[in-house]
Formats: sequence, structure tokens, C-alpha cells
Amino acid sequence: MENCFNMTPLCPDANNTLGTVCIFGTGDFGRSLGLRLLQAGYSVVFGSRNPQNSSLLPKGAQVLSHVEAAQTSRVIFIAVHRENYEFLSAFSQELAGKVLVDISNNLRKNQYPESNAEYLAKLLPQANVVKAFNTVSAWALQSGSLDASRQVFVCGDCESKQMVMDIARSLGLIALDQGSLLAANELENYPLQLFPLWRLPMYIATGLTAAFFIYCVLTDVVYTFVTEGKNISYRIVVSIANTIFPIVSLIMLALCYLPGVIAAILQLYNGTKYKRFPNWLDKWMLCRKQLGLVALAFAFLHVLYSLVIPIRYYVRQRQNIYTISLVKDNKTLTFDSAMSWRSDSFYTLGILGFGLYVLLGITSLPSVSNMVNWREFRFVQSKLGHITLLLCTAHTLVYGWNKFLYLSRYKWYLPPAYVLSLIVPCIVLVLKLILITPCVDRVITRIRQGWERKSVHDRSGQPLI
Ligand code: NAP
Repeated sequence: MENCFNMTPLCPDANNTLGTVCIFGTGDFGRSLGLRLLQAGYSVVFGSRNPQNSSLLPKGAQVLSHVEAAQTSRVIFIAVHRENYEFLSAFSQELAGKVLVDISNNLRKNQYPESNAEYLAKLLPQANVVKAFNTVSAWALQSGSLDASRQVFVCGDCESKQMVMDIARSLGLIALDQGSLLAANELENYPLQLFPLWRLPMYIATGLTAAFFIYCVLTDVVYTFVTEGKNISYRIVVSIANTIFPIVSLIMLALCYLPGVIAAILQLYNGTKYKRFPNWLDKWMLCRKQLGLVALAFAFLHVLYSLVIPIRYYVRQRQNIYTISLVKDNKTLTFDSAMSWRSDSFYTLGILGFGLYVLLGITSLPSVSNMVNWREFRFVQSKLGHITLLLCTAHTLVYGWNKFLYLSRYKWYLPPAYVLSLIVPCIVLVLKLILITPCVDRVITRIRQGWERKSVHDRSGQPLI
């Protein structure tokens, strides 16, 4: 196996710079990279089809023909689109033994049968191709190391890769070794992704919001209009919104913990942890953090909307009307201590639930999660997470109290929305409760430590003969 350490970086040259780096192509990326290399202390030589046209290039850089430029440096950045790589085969002799850095990206994922870097390596078999810098934009290079992504993923053979990683580090970037050139395809697909892990949580949040909005408008606004002829559509803006936000938040929080519960049940059922989970479960598990953060955003909205309740015109007006009617009818209000318990418990559960919710959100931030060990992370995300779910579910249960017993609450025989929001959390909590009972927990722990139940079926589910 090749040793990746102690490789010689570019040596300082006669001008006392860090060495000379060559860039083929004087376009946006080539110019930004050239400027950055010059600022870091390298000599930069551009290889161009039009060496005489150097007006836009950074001051201090040289522009030569491709052949002349290639002779000045061991490392050559190919800042040209893949579609134009063909011209390089004319310089195969000059480029033999050079480290060619392929920085190219495509317009679509898997656009070509092989990665651009592998294609370049095929065109120039005597050169050493390294894939790097394709995830850094020309803008990021120009705007300094504090802006945009500073990570440079590098793959290729060991010695060449080390030289490119040294250059990246001397530009103030974080070089991450991604292995051999086989990883190039993945690196090329990476900048084409659009929030892949956020997609499912966003779809779920949008779907739940739309479904509950329709449900609430139907059972509240439309029902009142049809049965009483009253227009209470003003409730859509705050009252109905503040019904939907906690519902979506609670269901999404439960959906964060449901895949873990399903995974444990599957492991119990299979009697092994070595059988793969179905793809949908894998995908679901991968986006739990995003699910939780979207849920937290809805919880924040719920808190903000709840804070404005006392200053709402509709609420103040209702209170005034009620007080005046008491005075008119000469009635006295009696203090109901059961009601006081109920409302205080409701607020306390909500506040504690929200506090832990925020803690979960904070610990999912990379800067925080990098500071805790695996056990601490699991403690917060799993134990405190389930407690958060328990508190938020209890908050909703206390809100509902005995309302579900009254038939008048079932508009058109439909249950109140909060009842629906309790289904998934209650299922998750009950299943979790069963899973943490000592007899079940013991089996799961053994399975997770590698123990397998003897089975009459093999791992693919086929009966053993
Ligand atoms: P660009 O502005 O279009 O520049 C490409 C350069 O390639 C041209 O300036 C030209 O330089 C050379 N060229 C054009 N046609 C050629 C041909 N037929 N034969 C030989 N050379 C030719 O493109 P760019 O934005 O700099 O991107 C260059 C590469 O970097 C691409 O592969 C891109 O995917 C990758 N990249 C770009 C960015 C970015 O932010 N722009 C980010 C990551 C990766 P001369 O006239 O001097 O020969």
C-alpha cells in the first residue's frame, strides 16, 4: 500500500515563492484560483489558447502557450470544461508524469458513463490525474477563506493527491482525502445535489400543513358558516395557524423517533443486526436531524403565535364581552382550582418541552455535536429526545383534557385536529415503552452487540435446508 505521508510539496523556487503552479484555461475559475495562489505566495503560469490576451488576468501571473506553461510546473490545474478536454491529447508528451488537477463539474448527475477525471486519465494515461476543487466556486475563491465552503475534496493516487492537498491547505482551505480516483464520480455529483436530506422533511411538513389547514378550515370556519351562518374566517390568520403549527411540530418530532423504533422491532423480528433495513427506512433514518429541525421551526412559530394571544383584538373583545355580561347579569366568578392546575400544567409541560426541544436543536449543530462524545450525543438525542416527545404529547393531552368526550366537539363526526396529532406520538411512546422494558431491552442490546438468534431461515429469508 502506498504511503501518503511525508511527500515533498512544491519546492520554493528562485523567486522565493512557494513554487510554480500552472493553470490551463483563463476563464472564471482559472482567474480566481490564480489570484488566490498568487496571494498565498505561489508563482502562477497560465496556459492559454491566446497567450497574448492577458488583460483580465491577476497581476503577477504569466501567460504562455499550453506547451510552454506545462514545462514550468509539476502540478497543472485544468480549468477547462470537460467537453473541451480533447485538445489536451495533443500535448500527451508534455503532460506525461505531471499531476493534472481535474476541477470540472457537469450539468447533470451521472451525465457521462465515466467521471470527468477518469475520462481525463484515459485521454492522458501517462499523467497522474487528481480530482479536487470542484466543490469550491470561483466566487468562494475570490471572496476569501472566511466565506462559503472551505472544504476541498481530493481523490487520486497518493503522491499526487498529497501535493494537491498541500496546495489547498496553503490557500487556507480544508483538504479532505476521499481516496482513489474511483470516488471522482461521487465528487462530481456532489455540487449538483439540492438539499438532498431536507427534501423528505420539507415534503412531509408541506403535506401535513396543507392537510391540517384544510381539515381545520372545514371543521371550524366552514362548519360554523354552514350550521350557524356566521363568518369566522378571520380565525384562519392566527387561531387556525396556531392550531396547525403545534400539530405539525408534534407529528414531525414523533416521526424523528419512529424509524428508530421500527428499526429495533425489525432487529428483534430478524434476530440479527446484520440484515439490511429496507431502503425507505435507511433514507428515513438519514434525515432524522432535518426532520427534527423542521419540527423545531414549527414549535418556534407556535411559541411566537401563542405570545401574541393576549394582545389580539379578537381575544380582548371576547374577554370584554364576557366581563360585561357578568356585570349585567350580576354574576360572580368563582375560582376553580382544578382549572388552575390544568392550565398551569399545560403551560409548564409546554415550556419544558420547548426548552428540551431547543436543546436538541442546538446539540444537532455540527459545532456542538463535534464537542460531545458518542454516548453524550446519544443521551441527548435519544433519551432527552424521547422525554421531549413525552412532554410535548402530555402538553397536547392536557390541552385536550376531556374535550374529546363531548359529542359537540366532533364537527360532522370528525375528531378535533389535536386528537389526530396525538396518534403518531402515542404509538411511538407506547412502542418505546415496550422496547425499554428489561426483558425486551436485554435482547435488543445483545443483538446490537452482534448476537444472532439461530434461525430456520438464512439472512435473505430463504429456509435453511
Ligand atoms: P470558463 O469561464 O468558460 O473558462 C473555461 C476556459 O477554458 C476558457 O477561458 C478558455 O481559456 C478554455 N477553453 C474554452 N474553450 C476551449 C477549447 N475549445 N479548447 C481549449 N480550451 C478552451 O469556465 P470556468 O467557469 O472557468 O470553469 C472551468 C472549469 O472549472 C469547468 O470544468 C467547471 O466545471 C469547473 N468549475 C468551475 C467553477 C466556477 O465557479 N466557475 C466551480 C467549480 C468548478 P483560454 O481561452 O485561456 O484557452
